[in-house]
Amino acid sequence: MGNIIKFSMDRLEQRRFELTFDCPNCGSARIRISAGKARGYVEDVMCPKCGIRVILDGLNITVVNEAVPAPEICPAPQGKGAIL
Ligand SMILES: [Zn+2]
Repeated sequence: MGNIIKFSMDRLEQRRFELTFDCPNCGSARIRISAGKARGYVEDVMCPKCGIRVILDGLNITVVNEAVPAPEICPAPQGKGAIL
């Protein structure tokens, strides 16, 4: 069993990601939410078809590192973008 690291929304906002899905309200438009580029937060998106506002209020990612045998704290990135 490898080292398991859980990333919550707070940490993922520091990373670039994109999420694409059908509008939860009308279902006829694609909604694309993206984060990154050092903004540090996720912007709301308006549906171009029905006009509702879509807000991402939760995201969790689990990472399994099979190469690391013993539990180890993920080392802080060098230079810019360090997460405290
Ligand atoms: Zn819609």
